Amino acid sequence: MAQRILEPGEIETLAAHSIPRIRIPDRTQLFAKRAERLRALAQTSPIGDYLRLFAVVADAQHLAVADFVVELPDAVQIKMAQTHRMPPISAANRPRAPQWRVALQAICAAVAQQPRLPDAVAQISARLRDAAADELEAHADILLGVREGEIDAAAAPFLMAALQVNWVALASRFAASEVEPIDVLGLCPLCGSLPVASVVATRAPYQGYRYLHCALCACEWHMVRVQCSQCGASGKDIAYRSLTGIAESDTAADAAAVRAETCEHCHSYRKILYQEKDPAVEPVADDLASIALDLLLAEQGYARASGNPLLWQPAD
Ligand code: FE
Ligand code: FE
Repeated sequence: MAQRILEPGEIETLAAHSIPRIRIPDRTQLFAKRAERLRALAQTSPIGDYLRLFAVVADAQHLAVADFVVELPDAVQIKMAQTHRMPPISAANRPRAPQWRVALQAICAAVAQQPRLPDAVAQISARLRDAAADELEAHADILLGVREGEIDAAAAPFLMAALQVNWVALASRFAASEVEPIDVLGLCPLCGSLPVASVVATRAPYQGYRYLHCALCACEWHMVRVQCSQCGASGKDIAYRSLTGIAESDTAADAAAVRAETCEHCHSYRKILYQEKDPAVEPVADDLASIALDLLLAEQGYARASGNPLLWQPAD
């Protein structure tokens, strides 16, 4: 019997029915696992001290999210956003809970208690603890793209960490079945932010599927494999690069649990993590720790499609 080859649109339609589209973050686990992973990666990383510092931040996030109270938009507002295929808890529109600044204080206090803290970090932490509420809100607006302005790159990772607490608390209130697709390729369907990296899962019912991981709210959404998460190009434009070499397929034998999915169409990349190679991979931590791969790709002329929330790099 002749087999009919599915067109890309049909594949997506089929996928929508059979593949779990959304994975909601577990607020009781997310930051604790990230802290653990950062500490594990720090042992062999050239930026070990930085990873250990952000493990402390992730510990503080874990404590802060446990009692973080957020109000979801009401059902009518959520429905309205979804009818227009817009993210229901948009980072750009959703008023933040003032408690995110309490989370920031807790993060900065945890950082300040660390022994042998570099002076520069101690100063940032003190500066953020003393900052007025409206100054912090202005920083947050700039980071989340609500308004234009200059980003304070040194303070940004700590501010983002506190904002993550707010949005993870929001995202974790949804059920996967309540999350509708939005119209813009590659943006988080819950908060509209860019993904930090993607993960190929191993555990049923997600086995073998690839999920993009939101840098802000940690929601994960399905995307077919071998496709650029930035511009949507597929096929020959896509390759997989690691520190040990290049592969044309993401199923090629390669020991690396972290690779960069590069695109010849838009000359950008995001990292893709394989739980099959290492079940402990965590998108924010592994992306941060694999900075050597970023340096290699920069030399080869590829740009990061989006940044890591815990390491602010100025846009090109
Ligand atoms: Fe999100
Ligand atoms: Fe692309």
